[in-house]
Amino acid sequence: MRKLAVKLQGIPRRQLCRVSTLASLQQEWEPGLNFLVPVSSQEELRQLETLTQAGLNNVAAYLPDGESTFQSAMPVVAGSPDSLEQEDIVTLTPGSKNAHIIYRQSDTHHSLFLTNRCNSYCLMCSQPPTQHDDSWLVDEALQLARHIKTSPALLGISGGEPLLTGTALREVIDTFQQLHPQTGLEVLTNGRLFAKAPLAQSLLQDLAQPVRWLVPLYGHADFLHDFVVQSPGAFEHTLEGLLTLQHFQHPIQLRIVLIEPVLRALPELCHFIARNLPFVQQVALMGCEPIGFALANRELCEVDLRAWQPQLLAGATALRRGRVPYVLMNTPLCALPETLWPDAHRSISDWKQVYAPECQGCSVQSSCSGLFAWHERGWKPTAIKAIPMRQTHEQVH
Ligand code: SF4
Repeated sequence: MRKLAVKLQGIPRRQLCRVSTLASLQQEWEPGLNFLVPVSSQEELRQLETLTQAGLNNVAAYLPDGESTFQSAMPVVAGSPDSLEQEDIVTLTPGSKNAHIIYRQSDTHHSLFLTNRCNSYCLMCSQPPTQHDDSWLVDEALQLARHIKTSPALLGISGGEPLLTGTALREVIDTFQQLHPQTGLEVLTNGRLFAKAPLAQSLLQDLAQPVRWLVPLYGHADFLHDFVVQSPGAFEHTLEGLLTLQHFQHPIQLRIVLIEPVLRALPELCHFIARNLPFVQQVALMGCEPIGFALANRELCEVDLRAWQPQLLAGATALRRGRVPYVLMNTPLCALPETLWPDAHRSISDWKQVYAPECQGCSVQSSCSGLFAWHERGWKPTAIKAIPMRQTHEQVH
């Protein structure tokens, strides 16, 4: 989520706005939505004021910060020019010095944060959970669905644990599927609450289209998984949840975050999946995001992936033999054995992704996931080393 320094005037309550333009506002305008319209001159501001006086009363002007000559009685947001794109969805909060761009149409990855509450406490959680009531996020998710103008190809719903919102999650899914039928939905969940039959049924039965469920699994035995998620009983609940998803014929991506306790038994975990969960659509082997609890548990989460190449290769081989498709995510190519390069995806969200100075001149950069933007506060997944020009990108992917 991008943060934007702003000054607000005349914004009475927290609201979502779609960024529009003066030229397109009259076609886009709807009474149930809010709009934010950048203006760059006094004349444009005057035109916008005329429209609002004519009844378009859910519109705020976005003025270049420091433009003191632009005086207006209409709702105004002042911020850096050129920081917004058309169709951005922005949250404005009275009293806050920041606005947040929660959706940008031009991004490759789109996500929707549904709750910060969670029933697990994973060692490497990138978004440490809190207990407070944040059910207003569900209402904002429904508003987001209405404010998005161009349906994205794919939208990821995450938390916290989205299943803790109960049937509200179903309302969010139904709303997106109704308003954006072309959008594929993915939900990142630990799957534990699917062990409860009534909730599973209310969430999974008779959906307009199947949702893809992204479910972490960190061990082939209860003590391994339960240790990583710091929750006794979680392994059993998650397995029950996976079987429930299979019963309802929903696609599943299993997610394995590559931290030390997981890497130690990665080949066994991959054998377990191939033998017992062959119905999963895909397994994602994922580099750890160096943020949140991962920083607090650094001795368990900081790994040099290059040192674990034998385990990665053995895990990949077990999955391949079991005919379970797999991908590698958040894993720079220079950390991987070359035979795994074709399986590595550019997976880090646009606003989180960077390359290191060492990447300069690397011949495979355009196929590489790069690094999380905050790796400098944490760690790099290996000693980054540019790959010299000896293979074409076509050979990599
Ligand atoms: S040097 Fe940079 S671009 Fe090249 S493989 Fe490593 S992380 Fe990727």
